[in-house]
Order: sequence, then structure tokens, then C-alpha cells
Amino acid sequence: MTINTNIPDKHGKFGPYGGQFVPETLMPALEELIRVYDEARNDPAFMQEFDHLLKTYVGRPSPLTHAKRLSQKLGGAQIYLKREDLNHSGAHKINNALGQALLAQRMGKSRIIAETGAGQHGVGTATACALLGLECVVYMGEVDIARQQPNVFRMKLLGAEVRPVASGSRTLKDAINEAIRDWVTNVATTHYLLGSVLGPHPYPMMVRDFQNVIGAEAREQVLAMCGRLPDALVACVGGGSNAIGLFHAFCDDENVAMIGVEAGGEGIAGGRHAARFADPNVSRIGVLHGTKSFVMQTPDGQIMETHSISAGLDYPSVGPEHALLRDQERAFYTYATDEEALAAFQELSQTEGIIPALESAHAVAEAIKRAPKMRSDQIILVNLSGRGDKDLDTVIRELMIDD
Ligand SMILES: *Cc1c(COP(=O)(O)O)cnc(C)c1O
Repeated sequence: MTINTNIPDKHGKFGPYGGQFVPETLMPALEELIRVYDEARNDPAFMQEFDHLLKTYVGRPSPLTHAKRLSQKLGGAQIYLKREDLNHSGAHKINNALGQALLAQRMGKSRIIAETGAGQHGVGTATACALLGLECVVYMGEVDIARQQPNVFRMKLLGAEVRPVASGSRTLKDAINEAIRDWVTNVATTHYLLGSVLGPHPYPMMVRDFQNVIGAEAREQVLAMCGRLPDALVACVGGGSNAIGLFHAFCDDENVAMIGVEAGGEGIAGGRHAARFADPNVSRIGVLHGTKSFVMQTPDGQIMETHSISAGLDYPSVGPEHALLRDQERAFYTYATDEEALAAFQELSQTEGIIPALESAHAVAEAIKRAPKMRSDQIILVNLSGRGDKDLDTVIRELMIDD
């Protein structure tokens, strides 16, 4: 795999977004990370080791699946699924976790800290740390711990310490605050393994590069299977790493539309959502966790509490590169509500035998809306970012399915 990086600029700016808004004590660590990452990505031995792990451990390339029955039922575009749900540990997060864990080793740092919302990044990180023999501490909000029990247990089994976070809304943003606090204290021995295209430079760029494999594979696969590029790419957007991972390889293909799907929660009107772009009442440009982007804020600039049925999309900001792609109208952003995601979750399970993560179900919901308005020779490529096993408790509670 080769990596081509035109943006961000050398200050980590994606146009007006991005940058490095951190306490001075962290600057040396960020500068070291920029330097070591730059060496690593130009070092064929490092990239070969990364590729080798992706192939022999993660199970890449992940397949591209034609969702035939779903497409037929909708009566429009052909839907193809990029199967990140089939990766070892169940989601796209492992790609980035392995890349950064290898970098930590290269920096001589033996302790890894991470934050997690859905638990998938925690599991990805704990998995990579077990594989490479690194100490692992994962910060997780108490609310997320309660709704993602199977992943908490997985992390512990994998040898990680899970530290509950009781501050704020007790979800992902609070877990990130705690992880940053830990990093400031232990920066000499510790690498902060950030889980999405968020945070200060170089994280949004580096995480994108490690996830670029998704789109690079998908582009080749769709060309081989269909003889043409897709008309639209659809991916859910939490921080935005699975979406950027899919989009990046298609950025120069002007006729390929890119659609990011945020969490519409209980609908935009009541403010109970995590749609950072869609709600003009709360979405404002601001700085959160070291980077400038769209941030859901109250009129006096306090960070809003977000809501989504899926823990992995429940975050008040969004990766700076998405804010730029939206300004440039290169990508478009919409949302799916909890209800629409739940319906898509069941629809994909029953028509294709694939139980998606609730996060990914937001992308499926958008494909279900779009496909019927398109021709049957058109193609929608959906990133199925993860599998739904971790969400069964939530879905059972929501649907009250009885046997
Ligand atoms: C974490 C997660 C997401 C959201 O994170 P992004 O950085 O936006 O990709 C989406 N899907 C799954 C399965 C996840 O675990």
C-alpha cells in the first residue's frame, strides 16, 4: 500500500479546520509523532509489516458483497457492501489500531492509552496491544460501559484495563478528556492511540492513512466486479474514520458522489441527536479535543450532550477533513434517525443474512432511501463498518423481540 497525502498542510490544517490546539506539554509528543510517522510511512519495511498484519491477522482484503435481494426489493440501484464487519475483532477500527500500535513500538513506547465509545476502538486497541505485547489502558464512559457490556468483557479478556469515566455525559467525549489528561501526565512512556480522524495533527491525517486501505480495496474490487466505478459511496460518520477510509481513494473520481450519514437520534428538531452538520441551531465551528471543526454547542459555547442509539456515533464533533469536504461540496452529509437505523438493521439481517453494527445501519438506511430513486444499472457502495453482535442487547431492548 502506498499513501498519498496532499492535505492537510504541514500545520495539519484542512482549509480552516484541523490544527493543533493542545497544552504545551503535549507539543513535543505530537512533534515526535509527526516525525516518526513520516519516517515510517516512507519506510518500506514498516509498510510491509503493516500490510502483512492486515493480510494475515485482520484477514484483508475484506470482501465486497452484492446485496442482491435488498437491491431487488428496493427496485433501483445495485447496493454493494464493503465488509469491514468481517475483519478480525468485528469492525474497521483494527486497521488503525494496528498501524498506531506498530508506530508506538517504533517510538519505544510500551504503554498505550485509548478512549472508546461503542467499545469497538477499545477492542481493536486491546487486540493490537495483546498481539504486540503492549500495556493497554482504555477509558470508557459509564453510560457506554452499561450499553456495551460484551465489548467491556472482551477488552478485559484481551488483557486491557478498562477505566470507567463518571464525568460529564459519561460517554465518548468525557472518555477522551480523561485519556488526554492521562497522556499529559505520562507522555514520556505512553502513546495515545486515538480511534478516529479527530484530535490534533497528525491524528486526522494518520488515522485516515491507516484506514485508506478500505477505499483502495473497494475501488479495485468494484472495478473488477462491475467494470465501473460506483455512482455513490455511503458511510456513517461518527468521528469519520470509516467514511474517510472509504472516500479518500475516490477523491479524484469526480463522478463518484460521497455521502456521510450522521446520527439523527430522535430527530433534529428536539436536539436529541449527534448530527453536527444538520442542525443549524447547535452546529457551530469550534475547538474540541485539539482540533477545529464543527462542534455541537449551546448558544454560549458549551459542548452539547449528544444522543444516538449507536454509541460509536455519539460524539459532538466531527473530523476536520469532513468539514472541508462539505465546504467544497465534494462530500454531502445527511442523517438517519434511531428509528431508521433500527429498521435498516432488521432489513439487512432479513434480506442478506448480515447483522450490521447499529453505526453501519445508519449508512444502510441512507442506501435504502436512495436506491429506489436510482436506475438499476447504477451502483451504491456502502461501507459496512462493523458487525452487530455488540448491539444485540440494545436492539432486543428497543424491539422487545420475543421468540
Ligand atoms: C466506531 C465505529 C464507527 C464510528 O467511527 P468512525 O470514526 O466515524 O468510523 C462506525 N462504525 C463502527 C462499527 C464503529 O465501531
